[in-house]
Amino acid sequence: MLDDLRGPHARETARALPLALGALGALPTARETAAFAAGSIAVAVVFVESDGSLEAFLPAAGQYGAPRTVTTRFEPISRPSGQFNKDYRLSDAGWRWQIMDKLGYAHDGIDDSPLPERAYADSVRRETGADWAFVLYVVDSLRDADGMFPDGAIAYTADLYGPYMVLTYDNDGYRFRHFDAVLAHEMGHVFGALDEYAPPRPGYPSTGELASGYLGVRNRNALKGGTTDLPCIMRGSQATLDAFAMGELCPSSVGQTGLRDRDGDARPDVVATRPRFDAVRPTAVNGGVFTVTGLVREQPWPRGASSVGTPFRHDISIFVPHDLQFRVDGGEWLPLVATDGRFDEPVEKWTLMTAALAAGTHALEVQGTTGEPAGFVKELSAGP
Ligand SMILES: [Zn+2]
Repeated sequence: MLDDLRGPHARETARALPLALGALGALPTARETAAFAAGSIAVAVVFVESDGSLEAFLPAAGQYGAPRTVTTRFEPISRPSGQFNKDYRLSDAGWRWQIMDKLGYAHDGIDDSPLPERAYADSVRRETGADWAFVLYVVDSLRDADGMFPDGAIAYTADLYGPYMVLTYDNDGYRFRHFDAVLAHEMGHVFGALDEYAPPRPGYPSTGELASGYLGVRNRNALKGGTTDLPCIMRGSQATLDAFAMGELCPSSVGQTGLRDRDGDARPDVVATRPRFDAVRPTAVNGGVFTVTGLVREQPWPRGASSVGTPFRHDISIFVPHDLQFRVDGGEWLPLVATDGRFDEPVEKWTLMTAALAAGTHALEVQGTTGEPAGFVKELSAGP
């Protein structure tokens, strides 16, 4: 799996995001189909076979995005992989574009940017309700003489954060029984982890001074320029297989994939977020009844600075505030009401109405949850 992280490593920078995020707030945008490896992940598996037919498109029965077999005119295993070539038939675009066409995801026909798999992954994510998604092409290599692409690649990922990876059945010397270890390594790339092997060519992003991932974590376990020498699935080759067998992911890769857990509560920081309550305004109506309005917003874990890959342009959380409730004087918890009818956005206006309160001071408690619960207590003074 040398040289297995393709792409320019910052392919979609300029047009990655509309400037106004609008109602999405901290939620991932359509282009952000992978940011950190916490939450749920949908994998759109595409089995690629070539039998010379352009017609035999055989989607598997069942859920949208479920494993499916797609045939292409080109034999993927006999095509060079990886970097886009002006003659698309000489790169993996020769068969990927056909598959994306059949699934209804347009490619641009010029430079393969944006990658059509990005839109496919995003729709699979939305249809399945997952937090993230990527496309896994499984290429039938068993009938190929040496199980290798012409340029030697047997497994690779398009770029940091996906949106697709290509694996073969026999994975060159790794063989099918190590499919899981190779998949784990490539999934590391999908969620921002860099390789740690010595750069196979100048400029390859696997050295120790680089920072990557949503949190912008240094590649400290790199063989070249690193400061640690720990077992890790990102080390490549036999070291990846050994580390996978032991379940070893070095702290650099843990950080780069967003799984860092600074407070040691067994929940990654990026999903240990809390909502914040603002603009709380109680209004005494009559007869001791109070109406209280306010805002609740998710506070995403702040992104770090990366030196490689498409930069994140906003702080991201996979949660919106939910389970919003209130009680007075330690009584029964009652639900808050979303002003727009549903708590489904990162920032929501809410309102509540108390029962008639007797003259005197009362404690109003409000709470809600994103990654973790949070809330506040406010004093209400009723009566003459
Ligand atoms: Zn790699």
